[in-house]
Amino acid sequence: MRAIIFAVALTFGCNNQAPEKLSEQPDSEVRTVKSKTRKQLNQTPTEHLQTLKSRPIPELGSKTTLSDEDFQTLLTDEEFKILRKQGTERAFSGEYNDHKEAGTYHCRACNAPLYTSETKFDSRTGWPSFWDAIEGRVETRPDNSYGMTRTEIVCAHCDSHLGHVFDDGPEPTGLRHCANSLSLVFHPETP
Ligand SMILES: [Zn+2]
Repeated sequence: MRAIIFAVALTFGCNNQAPEKLSEQPDSEVRTVKSKTRKQLNQTPTEHLQTLKSRPIPELGSKTTLSDEDFQTLLTDEEFKILRKQGTERAFSGEYNDHKEAGTYHCRACNAPLYTSETKFDSRTGWPSFWDAIEGRVETRPDNSYGMTRTEIVCAHCDSHLGHVFDDGPEPTGLRHCANSLSLVFHPETP
């Protein structure tokens, strides 16, 4: 049974989604749509993450007042697509998949603390996985997209998409919070 679950995890991944619908815009218009890269944010990747991490930590139980437009200004297109449009990063591509430092993983959109390194484990799925979230910081929602019955995990403060939670994780919870690295930003225990 575990082998089947593992095979399914590899096939469908964390929050696997069908290929994006091709744009219905005429070719000429498609070509003018450019992605906002980190370079266009005028920051190196390190500076960009530093900016996101230096924001105030949202209080437990509070809700963001930022709009999607605000998030679009703050995030790269890739981050925006995952956090605000329920996208999925490629398996084994994320910077936190094999990350083992001690510290806390915060929401990349709002900087709320979500997971600690103490609950991180190697799920071999290609996405950072945790057997529990920091209490009150993550919410779940049913997700029936793409013909699958899954449970989405979102940031409790800003509703940004993190990934999905499955019940094939290790003890003590038996849960596997499968998140996108691009949904998270790591705060080391000793900065
Ligand atoms: Zn958030």
